[in-house]
Amino acid sequence: MTTRRLGAVTAAAVLALGLAACGSDAGNTGGGGDATGGSGGGAGLKIGIKFDQPGLGLKKGTEYSGFDVDVAKYVAKELGTEEADITWVQAPSAQRETLIETGQVNMVFATYSITDARKEKVSFAGPYFIAGQDLLIRSDDSSITGPDALEGKKLCSVTGSTSAQKVKDKYPGVQLQELSGYSECLPALANKTLDALTTDDTILAGLAAQPEYAGKFKVVGSTFSEERYGVGIKKGDTALCEKINAALKKMVEDGSWQKALDANLGPAGYKAGAGNPPTPDTCS
Ligand code: GLU
Repeated sequence: MTTRRLGAVTAAAVLALGLAACGSDAGNTGGGGDATGGSGGGAGLKIGIKFDQPGLGLKKGTEYSGFDVDVAKYVAKELGTEEADITWVQAPSAQRETLIETGQVNMVFATYSITDARKEKVSFAGPYFIAGQDLLIRSDDSSITGPDALEGKKLCSVTGSTSAQKVKDKYPGVQLQELSGYSECLPALANKTLDALTTDDTILAGLAAQPEYAGKFKVVGSTFSEERYGVGIKKGDTALCEKINAALKKMVEDGSWQKALDANLGPAGYKAGAGNPPTPDTCS
């Protein structure tokens, strides 16, 4: 009987704790105040990443891996947040600005190119990497040599990306299919429903290197844009931007940046192009 009552008390205590945790979390996401959960404390961070980009941001079971994930962990640690206190949130290309604006995430590390259009809604720390737009095609296809050879071809890309925007602006003769994630394009490319996939060379290398697609695809290898990966944060949070930039600089200086790149994109045979590692822009 005593045990039973104790059980009830414990349950009530747990419930109260749970509610308290919910309450504080709701307060944190509710906007206003410091979205980082304080500058120096060990408060948790909600970080937006891709879940379907091997080598960059990948969720497998309960494990998160990739270059973006490693850079995010390094920066979080410099901000006083341990890995265990990070909540990873899926940040598809089209949802990144909204996730930041609504406070659903504190930072986005998701192959997120710094652009003037995006800067109207969010701010960026970094860049921490420079990639370039390229094409992924079937290994046996010799007809697509670059974006100028896409006329009349069926091309796959992702809604809300600079990759899709570039095609709409510069190559209007292409039949563009926009999906919500790059990994979704692969089955259609393999079965010839679509002819090519376009986005950053980093993403394409990681996707092509997946064992289930071994030998099936090749990256064309002539980039036609410059994609400067930034860390998306709430618009105008200059203090946070400066802290992130300091962490990024330290990551390059102590060798961790190169180590993370080699570990995550090395296996895919990816070599970082000119301009890497970049120096972060001045925060504004
Ligand atoms: N880096 C480009 C962008 O931010 C393409 C990759 C992506 O969609 O994440 O739009």
